[in-house]
Amino acid sequence: MTRRRISILGSTGSIGCSTLDVIDHLGGREAFEVPAITGMGNITLLAEQAKRFGVGFAATADPTRHEELKDALVGTGIETGAGPEAIIEAASRAADIVMAGIVGIAGLAPTLAAAKTGADIALANKECLVSAGSLFVEAVKTGGGKLLPVDSEHNAIFQVLEQSQRHAVERIILTASGGPFRNMSRDEMANVTPKTAAAHPNWSMGLKISIDSASMFNKALEMIEAQHLFDVSPDAIEVIVHPQSVIHSMVGYTDGSVLAQLGAPDMRTAIGYAIGHPRRISLPVERLDFARLAKLEFQAPDTDRFPALALARRAMEQGQMQGCVLNSAKEIALEAFIAEKIGFLDMADIVEAVMVDMAGLGAPTTIEDVFAADAEARRRAMEKIGLD
Ligand code: NDP
Ligand code: MG
Repeated sequence: MTRRRISILGSTGSIGCSTLDVIDHLGGREAFEVPAITGMGNITLLAEQAKRFGVGFAATADPTRHEELKDALVGTGIETGAGPEAIIEAASRAADIVMAGIVGIAGLAPTLAAAKTGADIALANKECLVSAGSLFVEAVKTGGGKLLPVDSEHNAIFQVLEQSQRHAVERIILTASGGPFRNMSRDEMANVTPKTAAAHPNWSMGLKISIDSASMFNKALEMIEAQHLFDVSPDAIEVIVHPQSVIHSMVGYTDGSVLAQLGAPDMRTAIGYAIGHPRRISLPVERLDFARLAKLEFQAPDTDRFPALALARRAMEQGQMQGCVLNSAKEIALEAFIAEKIGFLDMADIVEAVMVDMAGLGAPTTIEDVFAADAEARRRAMEKIGLD
C-alpha cells in the first residue's frame, strides 16, 4: 500500500507536535511518509522527530544552527538545511498534504511554496490569510490542492458549512473563550505580565497565540481569516464569548437554523479532520460528557476592553491591505510586550496608530505588495515603540 506523504512546517511547535501525535495514532511510519519537517530554535526536538519518523529532509529556519542539526543527524541519511531558503525547499518537496504550522507571517512564503506544488494545505497559520487574503486563496486554487482550515473555529465552520446551502448562509459566528482576562478591568489589564497573559484557561497552545488570545488579537485575526476563507461580507461575521470552549463556532442560515460543531478543546480533532478529509477518522480525544458540562455560557464581547476586535472590523471594511498592516504591527507589538518593553494595553494602541498611518493602501496585486506593506508596518511599529 502506498503511504500518504505529509510534510510539517513548524513541526517543533504546538500544532506540529499535535500533528505528529495524530500521525502516530494513525499508524506512524507504516501509514505515512514524511518528506520534510521544519523548526527553528528547538534543534534537539527537530532531530528527534526526524529520526522517529524517518523524514527525507529536516530544516531549521535559523541559519546559524545548521552544524548542530547536521551533527544530531549524522549517519542517518536524513538531508538537512538551514535558513529561510531551506524552509522553502522543505515546503516544496513533493507531498500529498502539508501542515502549515509556522507561527506568524514567517509562514507565508513557505506555505505559498507548498501551495505551488499542488499539495493540499492544512492551514493552521492564520497569518497567511490575514496578510495575503485572496492572493493566498488564489495561490492554493492555482496549485490545485485543497485548502483545509485547521484553526479550530474555521475548522468547525468548515465542518458545518453545507456547500449545497451556500446561498442561505446568513452569518458566521466565531466563538471566543475570552482568555484569562475575560472579566478583568482595563486598569487591571494595564499591569499584567507576559506570563499571566500566556496562561490560557482552556487550550494549550504556543506562547504567541496564547497571548493573542488574552488580548483578543487572536479573535481579530480569525475574523479576517474567516472573511477570506468563507468569502463572506464583514457584517456577516460575529463574535460571541463562550468561556467553556465547547462550541468551536457556528453557521447561521436564512431559515433561522444555526449549525454548530462541538468537542473537547483539543487541536487534534481539527488536525485529524483536515488530514482525514473527506473521511472522518477515529481519534483518542476526550469525549464530551454533557451531564458533567451542565451549562454553556455566552456573553457579548466588550470592544472597550478588547479594542482588537474593533480594529479587525475596521481592517475588514477598509480593504485587504489593512489585514496585513494589522498583523505585522501586532507581531512587533507582541514581541515588545513579551520582552517587557511595552505594556499589555499598548499593543492595541500601537496597532491602531500604524493602521491610521497606513490607511488608504489599495488591494495588493502581487505577493511582493504584501511583503512591502509588512516591512513598512513593522518599521512604523518599531518607530512608535522607540525600537528603531
Ligand atoms: P508555536 O510557537 O508553538 O510553534 C511555532 C513553530 O514555528 C515552531 O516549530 C517554531 O520553531 C517555528 N518557527 C518560529 N519562528 C519561525 C520562523 N521565523 N521561521 C520558521 N519557523 C519558525 O506556535 P503554534 O503551534 O501555537 O502556532 C502555529 C500557527 O498555528 C500560528 O500561526 C497559530 O496562530 C496557529 N494556530 C495555533 C493553534 C494552537 O493550538 N497552537 C490553534 C490555531 C491556530 P521552534 O519551536 O523550533 O523555534
Ligand atoms: Mg482559533
